[in-house]
Amino acid sequence: MSKIVVENVKIIKKKSLGRGNFIFEMAPFSKTKSIKPGQFVHIRQPRTNLLFRRAFSVYDFDAANRTLSIIFKVFGRGTSLMAKLERGAALDVMGPLGNGFKYPSKRKTVILAAGGIGMPPLYLLAKTLLSRGYDPDRILYFYGGSSKADLVDISRIKKLGIRVYPSTDDGSYGFKGFVTDAITDNVDLTNGKHHLYGCGPEGMLKALDELALSKNLPGQLSLEAPMPCGIGICLGCIKPLRAGGYTRICREGPVYDVGEVLL
Ligand SMILES: Cc1cc2nc3c(=O)[nH]c(=O)nc-3n(C[C@H](O)[C@H](O)[C@H](O)COP(=O)(O)OP(=O)(O)OC[C@H]3O[C@@H](n4cnc5c(N)ncnc54)[C@H](O)[C@@H]3O)c2cc1C
Repeated sequence: MSKIVVENVKIIKKKSLGRGNFIFEMAPFSKTKSIKPGQFVHIRQPRTNLLFRRAFSVYDFDAANRTLSIIFKVFGRGTSLMAKLERGAALDVMGPLGNGFKYPSKRKTVILAAGGIGMPPLYLLAKTLLSRGYDPDRILYFYGGSSKADLVDISRIKKLGIRVYPSTDDGSYGFKGFVTDAITDNVDLTNGKHHLYGCGPEGMLKALDELALSKNLPGQLSLEAPMPCGIGICLGCIKPLRAGGYTRICREGPVYDVGEVLL
């Protein structure tokens, strides 16, 4: 694991993406060069009485300019306060944290399955795979949400030139139904040529895990859990492993092989 730092950064860009979703671009963060897709930062908001940091996957970064971006959705108290911050406000950022994704063989077709706010780490994974020479036609990005407005920043994913498959529960955009159904509808999973990555709500991850296990499809899932400390001390984010025992999502995770964690 690369060195973890705790640094004072400033919001240099803030953009609303609608439906309570925001992008923050922040700088300067000294460890951008060592960030791997799937890693996260743990953010404390100074000048609030919030006790705990909040975890956010790294959406993008620019190592030369030491900038880092996240997308967040307003959920509870912490993210509501964060949404009120404007350009120039300071944040205390700890990271990069967690293990990140392992890269697949270049012979595989990569299926990225994102649900809602699970989109950012899979965007960064797609971008990184392209920079490592993977074929854009063999990167399939399945992005699901309740309706069209929940597929935030989809234009940025499309700009990567990979194959994007939107899906919505209400059918307002793309495939009508769940991400897992969009995958089985579009991809023949029986030929052993695919590698799956997933990030999203727990129900979706469970469905992806079951799909992958039933089709003998290798892959990794990025998990979320309430995460007070983020560095493996408080045990607030433990989950049971299929083989027995427990894992700390913040320390051994958040990325696990398909079937590894009992979802
Ligand atoms: C690895 C990881 C990556 C994530 N990536 C993203 C992302 O890219 N975008 C996004 O929108 N969301 C992401 N999340 C979820 C994000 O962290 C939650 O949306 C956020 O924590 C909700 O915070 P809140 O302040 O709005 O809610 P609140 O309900 O105020 O707080 C929830 C969090 O605060 C902490 N907390 C508060 N009170 C307690 C308590 N009494 N005991 C223990 N813990 C407490 C916990 O960490 C809990 O998860 C990620 C989560 C994880 C674990």
